[in-house]
Amino acid sequence: MSKIKIAELFYSIQGEGRYMGVPSVFLRTFGCNFKCAGFGMPRGESSAEAEFIDPAKFRTYNELPLVSTGCDSYASWDPRFKDLSPMLTTDAIVERIMEILPHGEWRDEHLVITGGEPLLGWQRQFPDLLDHPKMAGLKEITFETNGTQKLTEKFAGYLHTWKCHHYYDFRREITFSVSAKLPVSGEPWKDAIRPKTVLDYEDYGTAYLKFVIATEEDLADAERAVEEYRKVGFTGHVYIMPIGGVESVYALNNRNVALLAMRKGWRYSDRLQVPLFKNEWGT
Ligand code: SF4
Repeated sequence: MSKIKIAELFYSIQGEGRYMGVPSVFLRTFGCNFKCAGFGMPRGESSAEAEFIDPAKFRTYNELPLVSTGCDSYASWDPRFKDLSPMLTTDAIVERIMEILPHGEWRDEHLVITGGEPLLGWQRQFPDLLDHPKMAGLKEITFETNGTQKLTEKFAGYLHTWKCHHYYDFRREITFSVSAKLPVSGEPWKDAIRPKTVLDYEDYGTAYLKFVIATEEDLADAERAVEEYRKVGFTGHVYIMPIGGVESVYALNNRNVALLAMRKGWRYSDRLQVPLFKNEWGT
């Protein structure tokens, strides 16, 4: 039976992107190919905030402190916190999902498979999870990805069957919410901006780009990135979203980012989990 290392599994409101406001189950897989230590820092500097958090002092994700710089889901990939993330069978994951769904079954809720980076190695296990009989009522799935991981041939073929199923009841709406990392993240451009990889996602579902923006410099980076994606033929929507894993930072630039979105004719994505739930773990 397949197993997946799960950082978090919780029920909340989707706060970002296309499904903003939709009740959703979040399945956060462990592991990421990036560190994104640049968020909230002056350009060229890296945050060491999470490095001062001692994993030995915490037994669950909900006890962990929030950070205002660097990756706000640091414990979902930092090996120092790996013991907080159990390796669960797909059966155990499904049972837990049934427990947290308000009616004990899928109705109008949506599944968000996030990370870390969920498309790293778990593509092999997802079909077992999604084909479980109790998952049959699930109709909408979003992969929240950083857009650097190619779909394996096998997983792409699997997704294709959902998209093209002859009977409507067996179709699933697949979305790739691609949070491509601009230089504000601290990750190098050549590793983070992978237009052809993201173009391929469009063959298997709806794909869109979602950039985290703090300044006009970030906006210029987003423009340059969008040009690169468009050049290879990517047609998806572009969202921009304010930086801010904590309320004080978010509140400083959400309005500005909304105004920039209007100026550019791009979509604005909020981070509803910040004003609603203070972006605490499990929200
Ligand atoms: S890609 Fe996402 S999860 Fe990975 S380090 Fe960057 S912000 Fe964190």
